[in-house]
Amino acid sequence: MFEGWGVGLAVAEMLPAHPGSSGRPTRLSEALPVRGRSPEGKAYELRRVQQLKSAIAAYEADLIAGLAADRPATADLRSGTPGAAAEGWCTPDAADLARLGGVSEFFPDELAQVLHCSRAQATTTATHALTLVHLLPATWATLADGRIDWPRARGLAQQLGPSAEEVAPGVLAAVEAVVLSRAMELSVTGLRALAERELARLDPLAAAHRRRRAAKAADVRLRPAPDGMAELSVFLPAPAAAAVYETADRYARLEKEAGSPEPIGVLRARVLVALVLRPWDTSRPPVTAHLTVLAPLPVLANSVGVGAVDGRPITARDLRELLEQLDALCPGGLQAPTGGSMLLALTDPGTGRLRATVTRRELETLVRRGCPTHPGPDSDCACAVLGEPEAPDRYSPTRAQRRFLRARDHRCRMPGCSSRAGWVDLDHVVPHSDGGETSCDNLCCLCRRHHRLKTHVPGWTFVMDDDGVLTVTTPSGVTRVTRPPGSDWNLDPTPEPRDLVVDPPPF
Ligand SMILES: [Zn+2]
Ligand SMILES: [Zn+2]
Repeated sequence: MFEGWGVGLAVAEMLPAHPGSSGRPTRLSEALPVRGRSPEGKAYELRRVQQLKSAIAAYEADLIAGLAADRPATADLRSGTPGAAAEGWCTPDAADLARLGGVSEFFPDELAQVLHCSRAQATTTATHALTLVHLLPATWATLADGRIDWPRARGLAQQLGPSAEEVAPGVLAAVEAVVLSRAMELSVTGLRALAERELARLDPLAAAHRRRRAAKAADVRLRPAPDGMAELSVFLPAPAAAAVYETADRYARLEKEAGSPEPIGVLRARVLVALVLRPWDTSRPPVTAHLTVLAPLPVLANSVGVGAVDGRPITARDLRELLEQLDALCPGGLQAPTGGSMLLALTDPGTGRLRATVTRRELETLVRRGCPTHPGPDSDCACAVLGEPEAPDRYSPTRAQRRFLRARDHRCRMPGCSSRAGWVDLDHVVPHSDGGETSCDNLCCLCRRHHRLKTHVPGWTFVMDDDGVLTVTTPSGVTRVTRPPGSDWNLDPTPEPRDLVVDPPPF
């Protein structure tokens, strides 16, 4: 297919649209037709493609390491100055990254925007790239020459990278020499096992260090899955994991033996839920729920299109209808859970845009009072009786604004960040000191690290329009946009507004 770096020239030439063609880049399959090749010819090409992928992976690692070098940790705020990272801020992955050549704590945030992925993924990608380029140069070179594939090179980076600090000088190079000579005859798992054995043989202390470090990465994670399911995973030392699994399995088998018709997997999951939630345990204070209920505004009875009612004022009649709907949902009406709270998020039916937030009690009061200009319980005027919270003439947002913005943004608004709204700061997109208003159009939810990034790291720009669409541009010129999640939000327990942190100026 391609001869050596002839590929670079060939690809570069093919990318611009050919004059008179369909206006798109030429496809590789057009330049190098597959049809007509013999099976041997196709197999040969496939092996060439594998080599090319290796070469590109090495080039990508080099580019990432290069961009990392442009963002040195020396540019970060010194610990102790306002806005600097608190002690213990970083995940073990990020700590690895910080050790790899003094990279800025905000480098993964920029890389996440460039690669259009989550920050966690960018951290992992950067860690692998920096490990290969700086700590495992022989592996990087083998990859660049197409003599090892990316999964194996990455496996070695994962296996050997975390030990780099503890091992004696020269040990990594010695391990590389052994494993690279056999790399392509072993599976990825086999290769990692060989690397681990060699490392333990050449430097027995390193293995013990590694184990202690790994234990610090223990965590519980929640990931959504299709069809109303979600995946709860626990990363913990192997003996504890085996014990938890064994316990769930034993109880599930007891239920099965007692005649339960449910599949064993369902029983294991149910046992685990019961063991964690412990409904029989009254020795601890109950954990209460705080619900945000999504309530689309009623579409007018005279069947105008859904879009036509978007943006019209929220009238006393709308609220009356809403209260009736809530009361019809269950006996006694939909109420806040015991000890918890319930917030109604009123949205436009077509766009899902958030119009106002209101508690059940406030809703009842508004319905009782009706329109102040046209009083009377059944008045049908078109006056607005509820809307976006008003902007105060001061730095700090009102309680109503915090409530509204938490419901609008739901999470940190930085593209790729998934920190939940309960943990976020409210940020003035145009700083208050530069004349930015404390209005919902100028406030958005950012987690603490992205709040620090926006405020203190030069070269980033953040712009928000009236609809809450946030445009973020990195110092390297990559632009990403996030919209308020709109109708994506749903019944979701979020902490109370008091959990929101509002930083003192200059934020
Ligand atoms: Zn009125
Ligand atoms: Zn964030």
